[in-house]
Amino acid sequence: MTKLSFRSHAAKKFEEGSPLTDTFGRKHNYLRISLTERCNLRCTYCMPAEGIQLSPKEHIMTYEEIYTIAKKFVQMGVTKIRLTGGEPLVRKDAALILEKLASLPVQLTLTTNGVIVDRFIDHFKKCGIKTLNISLDSLHSHKNKEITRRSYFEKVYQNIILLVNEGFFVKVNCVLMKGFNDDEIIDFINLSKKLPIQVRFIEFMPFDGNRWNMDKLVSLEEILSKVRSSYKKEDIVKLEDAPNDTTKSYQIKGYQGNFAVISSVTNPFCDGCNRIRLTANGQIKNCLFSSKESDLLTPLRAGKSITPIIQKTVQSKLKIRNGMDTLDKFGQPSAHSNNRSMIAIGG
Ligand code: SAM
Ligand code: SF4
Repeated sequence: MTKLSFRSHAAKKFEEGSPLTDTFGRKHNYLRISLTERCNLRCTYCMPAEGIQLSPKEHIMTYEEIYTIAKKFVQMGVTKIRLTGGEPLVRKDAALILEKLASLPVQLTLTTNGVIVDRFIDHFKKCGIKTLNISLDSLHSHKNKEITRRSYFEKVYQNIILLVNEGFFVKVNCVLMKGFNDDEIIDFINLSKKLPIQVRFIEFMPFDGNRWNMDKLVSLEEILSKVRSSYKKEDIVKLEDAPNDTTKSYQIKGYQGNFAVISSVTNPFCDGCNRIRLTANGQIKNCLFSSKESDLLTPLRAGKSITPIIQKTVQSKLKIRNGMDTLDKFGQPSAHSNNRSMIAIGG
């Protein structure tokens, strides 16, 4: 009886909303596509030192398959697509994929480590890309080398300046880790004084092989407390956040840019979640923290409809962080250790 009434409730919600509305009324209009599991960096928080087991090449979506799946999502209500990875730009046909997806009626954007973005400036413009997220975890070369296990700090920094000068809005993603880069919070915020960028501090999240523990986490509250002790109260301005924003954003009065915090661990934003993820090997995930995946690529290649699989995946989405609804649950390794490494999900 209970089961039946739950099903009819879910079906009702589905009828009321778009095909991508889940049982909690959340409308999914934002697709994040991972183009590759490969990367030119080796960030410690994203992948284990020994690397990950890459999917065989034939299991990776071709650019035609990416386009076909993306088009299906657009028909179902997606209006925004973010390309991610691994490093999306290391894929040989990245420019072609960008162009193909730019022909869809969506806001197209990407998250990149910035190492080779200078090669794509004209492509970005041609594809109508206005905003890019660039990862940078320290303003010191030696610390970047330590975290990324590669030496590209100067290149990335120069590429951020290049993008700004070329008229793109850059969001700098910085994963904070206690004792490593939390002493740079104010330096990062001050970067938004001279550059019209958004600096985004991301709470360190647990994924397979990234040696996460709660002690390394720098929380929203800790970040704000540092901000409060460094600037006058009247100079810290809370900015308005859009309903689906994952960020809580602020600005220091008079600064050109602003800063924001993505507090997935201490202050989740699942209520307004509108995201669905497609991995490079054609699996969809309804939550970043879910180890469950639904295969779209095999049925697509077999000529079957992927629509019911997409709908079922959206319908089975849990309310909060795939069931990790309290902070305590992060302390149970079983709650998150079966998930892929971030590099193979696409952040
Ligand atoms: N290679 C690109 C890059 O680094 O921007 C795109 C892929 S990367 C997986 C996407 C985002 O996920 C990056 O901003 C990265 O900092 C973030 N990320 C990776 N592992 C994370 C973790 N354990 N906790 C929080 N954010 C993480
Ligand atoms: Fe590569 Fe991005 Fe992961 Fe760093 S965070 S290893 S740049 S995919």
